[in-house]
Amino acid sequence: MQTLISIVLPVYNEEAGITQTIKVLENFVATQPQDFELLFVDDGSTDASVELIKSMQSKYRNIKLVQFSRNFGHQLAISAGIRYTMGDAVVVMDADLQDPPEVIPAMIKEWQNGSQVVYGKRRSRAGESWFKKVSASAFYRLLQKVSSIDIPLDTGDFRLMDRQVVNQLRRMHETDPFVRGMVSWIGFKQSSVEYERKERIAGTTKYPLKKMLNLALSGLTSFSDLPLKLALNLGLVSLGFSVIYSLFSLFNHFNSMNFMIGSLFGTTGLILISLGLVGIYLYQTFKASRKRPLYIVANTSGFSESEREQHE
Ligand code: UDP
Ligand code: MG
Repeated sequence: MQTLISIVLPVYNEEAGITQTIKVLENFVATQPQDFELLFVDDGSTDASVELIKSMQSKYRNIKLVQFSRNFGHQLAISAGIRYTMGDAVVVMDADLQDPPEVIPAMIKEWQNGSQVVYGKRRSRAGESWFKKVSASAFYRLLQKVSSIDIPLDTGDFRLMDRQVVNQLRRMHETDPFVRGMVSWIGFKQSSVEYERKERIAGTTKYPLKKMLNLALSGLTSFSDLPLKLALNLGLVSLGFSVIYSLFSLFNHFNSMNFMIGSLFGTTGLILISLGLVGIYLYQTFKASRKRPLYIVANTSGFSESEREQHE
């Protein structure tokens, strides 16, 4: 049987460029030996993205659409999208052509040579602010240092995964998924393909600072307990300091009000930071224990009858 590759594309208010993305991808897949399906997950767009995707469905038979009932976020859109794929391998990419389709054949080649995960490694990132580049680079290096698993540097979610890996991902129901970490955790043979990350073709980033910080936080808290240990260590240091200081004050008549106030603020800060950290982990456990569905699919289109049965 002909090999089928699924491409999953999360979409959030991409009306400015979505039509071009679809055209470029369709032209690309037409030149490839494998069959392709394009699976768009609309993450609660409030613009014309959905209408534009649907209007392309009449022109191209391989376009599938899963619509969320509201904006649930990029990582959940990916998690949902892969659940609807049928391909022997699944590629995840941005819907703004920042991840160039020309890299996909190299990924497929690595896959055919026995890698179950082939991730795109950014050699450069065009059109992104220095702040984003510096903060992203610092974050990935920090995460690699502190996390319990090996998350490759400078990779986003642009990657190819074998069906075996996708099936394992589908078993994971994390409330705050950090997909690239989860894929590393799954294991199997993983390799990389380098590429130049391009500028988005249209529109603006859907990742404002707040979403970026949240992503970083969920990456840190779901793959590392270092922040908790840090809180513990800070507490120990602060306790040690106060013992030494108390002894010191007993034997000397050292009595400066300013110093007292300073250390009061210092210790209060440490306590609050530690409490906050514990709170974040506790909230993650609380969210997981609620057992709510992770996202809500309002509609699907472009799937065949038999595919639909498999989704049930
Ligand atoms: N996206 C999404 N939900 C969101 C934010 C973004 O589905 O809440 C999609 C977006 O449409 C794009 C991909 O996720 O296809 C990556 O987002 P974006 O390109 O804005 O991020 P950047 O490349 O700037 O990091
Ligand atoms: Mg992008």
